[in-house]
Amino acid sequence: AETDPMDDNGDAADDPAIWVNLRNPEQSRILGTNKKFGLYSYDLQGKKLQELVVGRVNNVDVRQGFTFKGEAADIAAASQRDRNTIALFRINPNSGEMVTTNEIDTNLDEIYGLCMYKNLNNEFYIFINDQDGRFEQYSVTDDPSGWQAQRVRTFSVNSQPEGCAADDAKQRLFIGEEDVAVWTLDAEPNASSQLELVAAVSDQLVADIEGMDIYRSANAVYLIVSSQGNDSYVVFDAEAPYEYKGRFRVGMNSAKNIDGASETDGLAVTSIPLNKDYPQGLLVVQDGRNLLPNEKQNFKYVSWHEIQSSLNL
Ligand code: CA
Ligand code: CA
Ligand code: CA
Ligand code: CA
Ligand code: CA
Repeated sequence: AETDPMDDNGDAADDPAIWVNLRNPEQSRILGTNKKFGLYSYDLQGKKLQELVVGRVNNVDVRQGFTFKGEAADIAAASQRDRNTIALFRINPNSGEMVTTNEIDTNLDEIYGLCMYKNLNNEFYIFINDQDGRFEQYSVTDDPSGWQAQRVRTFSVNSQPEGCAADDAKQRLFIGEEDVAVWTLDAEPNASSQLELVAAVSDQLVADIEGMDIYRSANAVYLIVSSQGNDSYVVFDAEAPYEYKGRFRVGMNSAKNIDGASETDGLAVTSIPLNKDYPQGLLVVQDGRNLLPNEKQNFKYVSWHEIQSSLNL
C-alpha cells in the first residue's frame, strides 16, 4: 500500500513510526513527518487520519505503555527543527488519536535525528542528534503537571548522523553516521558510550545511511537500514557479530498501480501481525519519488512476509 501524498512539494516526507493498536491490530496507525509542516497519521490502507500543524518535525518515534498525568497513554516524540526542541505527543492507547502536549528544550543547535528507547524497567528515553554529530539522551517521566524531561547523557560521532533505533529488549542503541558507518552502543544512560562498529559504508551499504529500525520476532532480531545511495535496504543481525543477512529493494506493485520506493529517508518496522496483509508485521519506508501518477512524496507499506521470503530469512 501507499499513503496519501504530502501537502507540500519537494523533499517533505521524512520519517515514519508505527503505533500498534494492541486490542485491534487492524486499527493500528502509521505516523509520518512532513518536515515542512508537521505530523500526520494514516491507517493501514494509507488514508490520512490526522494532521498536526507543529512545524518542521524531522524524525518521529513511538513507545507504548506509558502514562500522562497518571492516565494510560502512549507517547510519540519528534525532532523539531524550528526551535531545536523535542515535540511530544500523547496517543490515546485505545484509538491511536494523537494530541500535542509539550516541547523539551535541548542544548543542540541544528537538531536532526531522533529515536526512542523503553528499557526493561519501563523507563522512557529519547535520543536526539545534531548535524554536527552530538547526541543527547533524555529521560521522560510522568508528573502531575505532565511530561518532564531530563538530559541524562551525551556522546558524539565525528560527522553528520541522523537515523537511529533502540533494541529495547537488549538495551542497545544503533546509530547511523551518514557517510561512514552504523555503530552500536549500550542504550542505558549510565553505561559506557563506547561505539562498536556494526557495518561500514560499502558496496552494499551506500551513503547516505538513513533511517533504521529493529525487527524482533520469536526467532530472530534484525536491524533494517536505509541504504539511500543505492535505493535499497540492508538487513543485519541485531546481535554481535551483526552478520549481514541480505538486502532488498521495494519495487512497483503493478496489480495495484503502486510505484516502488527510492531515496528512502526514514523507515519503521514491526513484527506484530496487523491484518491479513501483514501477517508477520509491516515495514514502512519513506519514498523520495511518488509516481504513477507523479505526486507529492509519501510512504510505502511492505509486508514483512515478502521480505522474509525474498531473503530466505
Ligand atoms: Ca529526502
Ligand atoms: Ca539525512
Ligand atoms: Ca516511488
Ligand atoms: Ca532524513
Ligand atoms: Ca504512487
